[in-house]
Parts: sequence; C-alpha cells; structure tokens
Amino acid sequence: MTQIIEVADNLARVRERIVGAAVDAGRDPHEITLVAVSKTHPAAAVETALVAGQRDFGENLVEEAWSKFAAPDAPLVEHSEAHLHLIGPIQSRKAALAVACRPVLIHSVDRLKIAHRLDRFAAEAGLALDVLLEVNVSGEESKFGFTPAGLQQDVEALLGLPNLNVSGLMTIPPYDPDPELARPHFAALRALQEDLVRQHGAARWRHLSMGMSHDFEVAIQEGATLVRVGTAIFGTRDSAASAT
Ligand SMILES: *Cc1c(COP(=O)(O)O)cnc(C)c1O
Repeated sequence: MTQIIEVADNLARVRERIVGAAVDAGRDPHEITLVAVSKTHPAAAVETALVAGQRDFGENLVEEAWSKFAAPDAPLVEHSEAHLHLIGPIQSRKAALAVACRPVLIHSVDRLKIAHRLDRFAAEAGLALDVLLEVNVSGEESKFGFTPAGLQQDVEALLGLPNLNVSGLMTIPPYDPDPELARPHFAALRALQEDLVRQHGAARWRHLSMGMSHDFEVAIQEGATLVRVGTAIFGTRDSAASAT
C-alpha cells in the first residue's frame, strides 16, 4: 500500500519531469495535462492525490470507474473537482455505464460500433461526450484501436456523430522498457494528426494522448497533450488486476 506522503512526492516528481520534458522540447508545459491512472488503487489513494492538487484521473475498467467515482454511493462521487478519464477498451454492453460515469474524456474509442453506441447513450442522457480515437499505429495484432487505414475509412462517420466531440487521438505502443523504442509510434500518431488536420481542419484534432510511466517524457517531446501515468504516481499494481 502506497503511503500518503509517497503519492504527493511522486506527483511532484512527475510534474517536474513533465515541465522538464516540455521545456527541452520548446513547448509550454501548460499544454500538457497529467492524467493520474488510479486503476486498481483505492479511492483513498485518489483522495491523497486530490489533496496534492491533482485533478485528472484515469480508469481503464468502466465498472471500477463507476464504483469509485460515479455511483450514487461511490467514495469519490462528492468530489466534483476530480475529473474522470476513461482510458481502457469499452465493451458494447458497458457503453451505457461509461456514459453514466460522466467522464470528461474517453480516450479509447477504438471502433465505429462503440462510437455509435456511445453517441446513442450520450443523446439519451442529453450530453455531448468528448472522445479521442485510439489508433494502433504499430500494426501489432493484439492491440486495440483503429489502424490508420481503418480510421481514414471511418473518420467521416465518426465526425458525423452528433453527440460525440472527437477531439484527438490516443495510442499505446507495444511495451518496451526502452522508451526510445516508443518514439516512432508517438511520431507516427502525430503525423496522422497532421494528416487529419489537413483533411478535416484543426478543430477536432487538438489532443494527443500518449505516454505512460516509463515513456511520458519521450511522448511529450513528440507532442503529447495528455499523458497517462499510473505506476510512477501510485506505485506498482497487483499484477493479477493490472491487465491493460
Ligand atoms: C494502466 C494504463 C496506463 C498507466 O500505465 P503505467 O505504466 O502504470 O503508467 C496508461 N494508459 C492505459 C491505457 C492504461 O491502461
């Protein structure tokens, strides 16, 4: 169990590294939002981070997000200053619950079918849902996400969904402990963003969600506007529960 003081310290260190990476890359650190990934960690860990000034939190399982942040009896439901990001793949039958979580952003719209379902439930709830499109830039078989070609095929349909605000792209490169090996994947996501801006205008493609604990500095050098950092803030997860 990670101690309170550790979470605050870890957050301070991660924020410093974000600023450092941004400055090195000639970027304004304020362009980058730190999403603290609290999956598998108890609400108390999130409360500690809130006290330390953290506002954006990421969960990869819809049910866990619901029971921690959004259910009527959720421990964090009164904390309206906590902004929930859904970052994991969403199964069709979880789409209604995902919308009911009222996330500030869904990072992981990875196929047209789930986009349609989220749009429908958002319409029923009377809200516009901010979403990112997850892209599998590596072509790795086991990953979720649109292929770049598949995205080109579906992009008009995605942009036409009235209750979804597409606002950028997300990717998860194949894991490698060497962050430099993630760089080409981050650069490819950025190149795809530039293509989409040329084809469809800049309005919908502002965000690039990329970079995790071991590679967020490289991601920032390559243009990330959202980094999703879990382990470096909250400590290691129980491996049985941490499947991504
Ligand atoms: C768990 C998770 C993260 C955070 O990973 P860490 O290596 O713990 O920083 C980021 N993004 C997604 C989609 C995740 O599921």
